[in-house]
Amino acid sequence: MSEQLHPDIEFVLLSEKQIRGIVQDLGAQISKDYEGKSPLFVSVLRGGFVFTADLMRAVTVPCSVDFMAVSSYGDGVKSSGVVQIVKDISTKIEGRHVIIVEDILDTGLTLKYLIGLLEGRHPASVAVATFAVKDIPGCTPAIEPAYVGTHVPNEFVVGYGLDYAERYRNLPFVGVLKPEVYS
Ligand code: 5GP
Repeated sequence: MSEQLHPDIEFVLLSEKQIRGIVQDLGAQISKDYEGKSPLFVSVLRGGFVFTADLMRAVTVPCSVDFMAVSSYGDGVKSSGVVQIVKDISTKIEGRHVIIVEDILDTGLTLKYLIGLLEGRHPASVAVATFAVKDIPGCTPAIEPAYVGTHVPNEFVVGYGLDYAERYRNLPFVGVLKPEVYS
């Protein structure tokens, strides 16, 4: 799928091929770090579902998955700073090695909240795997993830699970929207 097929996309930031490489590397790293363990991936919906599906298939240790739905952005492009749990996991995580899987880390407030929530349930460990970290000059995210796929510039990006007003999640690449789409 090329950017010509998507008139709303200003430019492609990460191609399908680049994404595949990023996910394979993360999967190999996690497989090595969790050798002899059976981690539970907690996928943060909705944006994290595409990355979670690919990451799990790049991991060779036995693992399982559950889903948590949070709402932090609404339909806009600015962080509200307010995290609302829309759906909780149903897996008991006491004594489990948990890896929270997120699409993109911006302020880190969403993940900080989730880590605190899950740590309160006494897992053996909690780590974060984020597909991307947004580089914002002068800002340090509230948390430091153990696994970072890549860094992206301070632009509003869509595709590979990331939406704008629930659209574009199905794009197989990560791209920057034309400003006229949301202004
Ligand atoms: P944080 O709490 O780290 O500020 O925000 C993280 C969440 O905001 C992400 O899981 C994602 O849902 C949303 N988000 C942050 N930056 C972007 C972006 O560039 N594009 C999209 N589609 N969502 C974003």
